[in-house]
Amino acid sequence: MVRISIPTLPPGPILPPNELTRLSPTLAAAHLAEFLERGRGRTLVITGAGVSVDSGIRAYRGKDGHYANPNYKPILYHELVEDTPRGELFRKRYWARSFLGYPPVRDATPNPTHIYVAALQALGLAPNLITQNVDNLHPKAASLILSSLPPQARPPPPPSILELHGTLAKVHCLKHHHAQSRDDFQAELAGLNPIWDGEAKESERTGRRPRTNPDGDVDLPGADFTSFVVPTCRICAEEGIKSSIVKPNVVFFGETLTPHVRDTSLSLVSSASQLLVLGTSLATYSAFRLVKQAAESGKKVLMISLGPSRADKLAGVDKMERKAGDVLRTYLDEVVKTNSGPEVDAVKAVLDQGVVITPPDVEGPRAEG
Ligand SMILES: [Zn+2]
Repeated sequence: MVRISIPTLPPGPILPPNELTRLSPTLAAAHLAEFLERGRGRTLVITGAGVSVDSGIRAYRGKDGHYANPNYKPILYHELVEDTPRGELFRKRYWARSFLGYPPVRDATPNPTHIYVAALQALGLAPNLITQNVDNLHPKAASLILSSLPPQARPPPPPSILELHGTLAKVHCLKHHHAQSRDDFQAELAGLNPIWDGEAKESERTGRRPRTNPDGDVDLPGADFTSFVVPTCRICAEEGIKSSIVKPNVVFFGETLTPHVRDTSLSLVSSASQLLVLGTSLATYSAFRLVKQAAESGKKVLMISLGPSRADKLAGVDKMERKAGDVLRTYLDEVVKTNSGPEVDAVKAVLDQGVVITPPDVEGPRAEG
């Protein structure tokens, strides 16, 4: 059983840049080209919070590996599901904050790095992707490319994206796993909490949005959560089942991955020839162990990421301390110049469609979750 614990990275000495990190942008891209060539279309990509920072979604940790927001205490799974008055308070706090924190994540658009990863998938260079992000941005980027392909060239199965820690776009009840879209649940929350809804609309109007963490939670100093109304599962209620707790489809700290997700992630690693790891500190064990499994079985692992990571001392992991998107772009420019076909045309059409948004209260560059 892998329980997701609140990730922390032990402080370590700052190492001088290694050989890979010191490569010029062109040579870094050439190194990536050689790496993907060797993967023969079976390279598995693993991404983390660092990839979504440019979409205005804050990473948990800054460049030194510490929490970017030291006051942030994420809610734990056992608190969220506790069937007591105390648990009810935890749920009020969680959903009130999440009610305000969700719209920026819902409205976020893929940044260039999401587009580049989707391009690697569409071009068959690295068809499978595991992401630790719950922001739905990789699927959004993949559908951008898919929609610019002519219908006859669209691959029958959708691109393979495993959201290791789930997605904020859906919710389900704990008793019967009744699924609903988060947008529907958000509308239900809005209807039940008109004052909070007013606050949400006001911040949308003024653009003054509260500080949002990668899990869609916000910091709201001094807010009174006790008045927030949290609905139970609508479908259970229709069947006469009372107090059925609703939870977003994301893996909380202290929660375990479902066996299906765990097994799928392990089998994606087994069937991959090598791993390309982008924008992550691999602080959560569920992701770290995938890299460890690959490295221990002799597979090559190339990591392109800023900031310290849990895999930095792992034998067999080559790390390029760079912004992943920059290396991918230089590489893809060369790929689309020297290749042709409907997939290449589709990639060309969307390559510049990524949007960079800086989170409003970021003082300097932030990296990696
Ligand atoms: Zn239900």
